[in-house]
Amino acid sequence: MTTHDINHHLTDKLLMAYSAGALPEAFSLAVATHVSMCDECRARLGAYESLGGAVLERAETVAMAPDSLGATMARIRDGAPVVEPPAPRTRGVLPAPLCDYVGGDLDEVRWRSVGMGVKQAILPTSRDATARLLFIPAGAAVPDHGHRGTELTLVLQGAFVDETARYGPGDIGIADEDLHHMPVADIGADCICLAATDAPLRFRGVIPRLAQPFLRI
Ligand code: ZN
Ligand code: ZN
Repeated sequence: MTTHDINHHLTDKLLMAYSAGALPEAFSLAVATHVSMCDECRARLGAYESLGGAVLERAETVAMAPDSLGATMARIRDGAPVVEPPAPRTRGVLPAPLCDYVGGDLDEVRWRSVGMGVKQAILPTSRDATARLLFIPAGAAVPDHGHRGTELTLVLQGAFVDETARYGPGDIGIADEDLHHMPVADIGADCICLAATDAPLRFRGVIPRLAQPFLRI
């Protein structure tokens, strides 16, 4: 995969929130993983980070309340876990930020079946949002659903199509309350994605709805 094949990128809002450390860990992981695959977003993130640094430097020259530095440091210590800045892509399927969560590459992933050949592996992140790897067999679909919050879906291998577009390796789909979709994997190859959600999905079908509490989707 070359980076110019990526057509679906992070929004400015997500990049800014990431560089400010304001995202739930699961979203932070999705952003870091996309950035590790995408030169364009890495450059945009770099711009936000130097902007943030400049703001901080200016702020230091302004008189601060005696305890404000301590309070800031405490906030940094107690805040959401920070996902390490993106490292260069490894040789396997999983980019470096993900390998740290899986404890290796794809062969270390502990998949659980969610039905219809689709498998998932929930990654260990803080519980304010959920990150999962999804395995969608070639030609198979994720049951159609809506969203109660934000869903980031980053393609790691293969591709899927939904009502909005086709997403290939490195592409990130951003869904919200307004989107109802049914992602379908391309016929040619099994699709592996990283999906991050901050609220349960809305399924139309009865079976997925019954399974929902067990699958944490
Ligand atoms: Zn990008
Ligand atoms: Zn969705």
